[in-house]
Amino acid sequence: SGGFVRINSGVHNGRVGRLPAGIGGRRLRVVVTGGAGFVGSHLVDKLIARGNDVIVIDNFFTGRKENLVHLFGNPRFELIRHDVVEPILLEVDQIYHLACPASPVHYKYNPVKTIKTNVMGTLNMLGLAKRIGARFLLTSTSEVYGDPLEHPQKETYWGNVNPIGERSCYDEGKRTAETLAMDYHRGAGVEVRIARIFNTYGPRMCLDDGRVVSNFVAQAIRKQPLTVYGDGKQTRSFQYVSDLVNGLASLMDGEHVGPFNLGNPGEFTMLELAQVVKETIDSSATIEYKPNTADDPHMRKPDISKAKELLNWEPKIPLREGLPLMVSDFRNRILNEDEGKAM
Ligand code: NAD
Ligand code: UDP
Ligand code: UDP
Repeated sequence: SGGFVRINSGVHNGRVGRLPAGIGGRRLRVVVTGGAGFVGSHLVDKLIARGNDVIVIDNFFTGRKENLVHLFGNPRFELIRHDVVEPILLEVDQIYHLACPASPVHYKYNPVKTIKTNVMGTLNMLGLAKRIGARFLLTSTSEVYGDPLEHPQKETYWGNVNPIGERSCYDEGKRTAETLAMDYHRGAGVEVRIARIFNTYGPRMCLDDGRVVSNFVAQAIRKQPLTVYGDGKQTRSFQYVSDLVNGLASLMDGEHVGPFNLGNPGEFTMLELAQVVKETIDSSATIEYKPNTADDPHMRKPDISKAKELLNWEPKIPLREGLPLMVSDFRNRILNEDEGKAM
């Protein structure tokens, strides 16, 4: 379906009932799928703050209205309850495609749904981008590197992924989503952007989503032992959410397709992370060892030289500064939970 009106403003505009952004005072219109989730809601805040019109599409599987409630009533904000596995018609300039559960506990809960979200959901959003000439950004993941045999991981590394394991619905799903994005780019001329996100933490993470940072922080606040899986010597690199959101916007607005690693290269073992959580929240917190999950990657650390060079982006907030920034949000929500139980 050719015949798009293409205006060379860095943003492509479709032909359907839509003035180009900037003409007649029309603001940039942006879709964020998964915008009621942890990362999505912070991204929406940034886009609204810089003056964009934002439409969130979310089925509330792991997302919550509470993450966006401060925007209800803002005429530049719209929230649509919709599952990206189903097609949708919209007219926008940019699509940030985040919809997909990110925590292993959530994505393993219904693995077939996770695959459908990654494959059919991404296909639908790419079909939408193609029809309206919108730019499309995929939030892929460091999990595409699997249990990596190269360390740190560069974007050129093809990964070491188990195609039939418990994590495959997520990591193979995201690999297929990357393939779809590149095929729509090469085959249909869709402007795509691919981010490979490394472990990210911050306020609004689900309290019980099973990820290590949210688990340790909630456990320390609740005076429960910190659960270390396996020997605790596996490593991850933890990025504060505002750094990620800045990277996503730089990628979307820049001229490079990617993929780009977006992560903080500061690498910690789970035991070191537990130590930082103890220092930040409760020095008397104890550690309880539990068996590790299947196919758990032994180490993970991004090489971010490509994003530094081409996007002029790098994270600014180290773990010891970022962790305290999520504690009051967690404390408040845990307190509300306890009050709810007492009633
Ligand atoms: P999240 O679970 O908080 O948010 C995901 C959002 O997508 C939720 O609001 C959920 O309700 C929504 N969603 C899920 N399936 C949907 C569907 N079929 N239709 C519509 N909405 C749907 O997770 P997050 O941490 O905010 O992650 C956002 C994105 O970033 C995901 O694509 C994830 O894979 C990617 N990512 C996150 C991290 C991280 O550390 N947080 C790391 C790598 C990649
Ligand atoms: N799609 C959508 N909204 C649109 C355009 C397409 O949800 O505005 C969906 C469409 O239903 C299809 C997918 O995106 O399932 C891929 O669309 P495309 O046009 O690329 O492929 P086709 O429909 O020809 O298979
Ligand atoms: N982990 C842990 N305790 C927990 C939750 C997770 O030690 O309570 C470990 C987990 O085994 C993994 C690492 O922390 O090695 C990161 O797990 P997470 O689920 O946060 O992210 P991902 O595996 O997707 O990187």
